[in-house]
Amino acid sequence: MAFILDGKRISMEIKDELKEKAALLKERGIEGALAVIQVGADPASTVYVRNKKNACAYIGIESQAYELPEQTSQEELLALIERLNQEPRVRGILVQLPLPKHIDEEAVLLAISPEKDVDGFHPQSVGAMVIGKDGFLPCTPAGVIQLLKRSGIAIAGKHCVVIGRSNIVGKPMSLLMLRENATVTIAHSKTADLKALCKTADILIVAIGRPQFVTAEYVKEGAVVVDVGIHRNPDNKLCGDVKFDEVEPLASAITPVPGGVGPMTIAMLMHNCVESIEKLEG
Ligand code: NAP
Repeated sequence: MAFILDGKRISMEIKDELKEKAALLKERGIEGALAVIQVGADPASTVYVRNKKNACAYIGIESQAYELPEQTSQEELLALIERLNQEPRVRGILVQLPLPKHIDEEAVLLAISPEKDVDGFHPQSVGAMVIGKDGFLPCTPAGVIQLLKRSGIAIAGKHCVVIGRSNIVGKPMSLLMLRENATVTIAHSKTADLKALCKTADILIVAIGRPQFVTAEYVKEGAVVVDVGIHRNPDNKLCGDVKFDEVEPLASAITPVPGGVGPMTIAMLMHNCVESIEKLEG
């Protein structure tokens, strides 16, 4: 039976550490807020935004909600971001994606000051990550690293295959595994013989966005399997990119969905917010 990489437990551990840190900062008069902007009322986004607000409340940092109508213009959104960039109390700005089609996502992400870019999506944050300089790390990949490390999984020297090369998951995930001294291969939709490649992985990280795509045929016996995917199956239950029941008996460790990578993402967002507040001291 595989060891379960328990994101629910480890994310709580991280949030409790952050709660303590935020309280100590508050005692010294150092406080700040996370501004969360949602444009439109996409139901999934509403759930994500609510979870972020709840996490802020748990940790004891202020969250400011900006719920804008679907027809908000790009100019209006950029003006709000500019105002929040100038607002000293706001230490993090998060724009919930996806944005309505008439708004250029790239222009919006570029407008957020890198100092407040707690999602780690600004090109300056991405560049800093690539060359190993200080900057906010994107929350989902950083959460996977914490999940592995805090579960005692050795990364250095291991062959890691990451399936997916998106800017928010696959690419940064690969870079962070490289930073941890794994030997990394990035697979994508044009990869030849994906199954054979995945079978060579000591650590297989799946961020493909296809429900239960990865079956036992993709997994080497004893591999560590991390499932970043999140979907609803026809019974309305959450599932990942990995066929858990089939893969679990083969793996040495595996993330469940839900309760694996998902909660780690929010914990790392909170980590970035507290880090940003801490910088006020310096
Ligand atoms: P994405 O932008 O759709 O990227 C998917 C990647 O998978 C692409 O690079 C694509 O390759 C590759 N791919 C698609 N089909 C493939 C195939 N048949 N064989 C090999 N590679 C294939 O998705 P994403 O934003 O990275 O998200 C991935 C998954 O993670 C989704 O299920 C998403 O919901 C989930 N997610 C979860 C969290 C969390 O907190 N747990 C956070 C973010 C995302 P090409 O580049 O060649 O098209």
